[in-house]
Amino acid sequence: MVDTVDILIVDDKINNLIALEETFSGVGATFIKATSGNDALREALTHDFALAILDVQMPEMDGYELAQLIRNRKQTSKLPIIFLSAIYSDDFHIFKGYDSGAVDFITKPFSPEILAGKIQFFIEIYLQKIKLKETIQELEKTKKLVLKQNRQLQRLSTHDDLTGLCNRRHLVASLEQEFNRCCRHGTELSLIMLDLDHFKNINDNFGHEFGDYVLKAFSTLLRTTVRKSDLVFRFGGEEFIVLLPLTGAGGAAKTAEKIRRKCEETMIDDRNYAVKITVSIGVTSYNKEVHQTASCMISFADEALYQAKESGRNRVVVYQGKNALQEKALS
Ligand code: GH3
Ligand code: MG
Ligand code: MG
Repeated sequence: MVDTVDILIVDDKINNLIALEETFSGVGATFIKATSGNDALREALTHDFALAILDVQMPEMDGYELAQLIRNRKQTSKLPIIFLSAIYSDDFHIFKGYDSGAVDFITKPFSPEILAGKIQFFIEIYLQKIKLKETIQELEKTKKLVLKQNRQLQRLSTHDDLTGLCNRRHLVASLEQEFNRCCRHGTELSLIMLDLDHFKNINDNFGHEFGDYVLKAFSTLLRTTVRKSDLVFRFGGEEFIVLLPLTGAGGAAKTAEKIRRKCEETMIDDRNYAVKITVSIGVTSYNKEVHQTASCMISFADEALYQAKESGRNRVVVYQGKNALQEKALS
């Protein structure tokens, strides 16, 4: 909102300016006086005015020259100018006034009511312009907010809120993409599925909040243990998946074992509680004879994981085929 509306009045005779200010004291504007073209230009460049009322004949810089300078400056080019002349009333000088950028040319003596009406009109235009500027600023702010919220929504749709890892929805798209790539180019691809052991006990013994803390700590461990080119997902509750592009069975089993060992050795400590946890892991690597679809990668890793749980937990099992799940002997 604007507190005051300023109008620039320019005349080399100060008495004329004082008289003008008195005559239009009722229009609700503040009149800023300038007694030379240079003063007027300085004022126009440093203040925001609703209107400039210029005398035509002034020493050094006359009104026409001043009007042209105002028009040609970027900051002042839109400032409405009215000429007020006691000397010139002929067409030549009036046209010259319009030509130099004025919107009106008033000759003295003038009707104060008519000029007051015109001043009011320009005050109204100015206030509308300010309001429009404020509306545009508000819209810009709203636009920024909406864009930010869109980015957040976009992230929420592909990432897990608690751990910041990619979520299950993201996995479906990534797995499809990586699976198609390795089918087409004959490259390797492995999938590791992990499930924390007896995680329910953590919640039961230390509370859900500490349970969340453990999930976050394990996510960090996972992210920092695998390669940057591997993709880590929270599959659900306390289950995770790592996709390892360009990695075969040997590399995937080693990575899985590295995770298992690191997990077993790491103390998770939130300053209230400190625990060590273990993880069971199932691994599968792409084989065109057995993996017909991308979802086979998940179901076979899940079978291997089930086997890891069944055979005592805290271990890595590599899927070796339908009836030949074997625990990978790893040092
Ligand atoms: P197992 O070794 O057989 O995997 O046993 P488990 O206790 O880990 O498995 P179970 O499926 O019985 O329990 C999983 C637990 O994980 C139960 C559930 O409350 C907990 N859980 C799932 N999501 C979250 C979560 O976001 N935060 C917390 N704190 N707990 C979770
Ligand atoms: Mg589970
Ligand atoms: Mg579990």
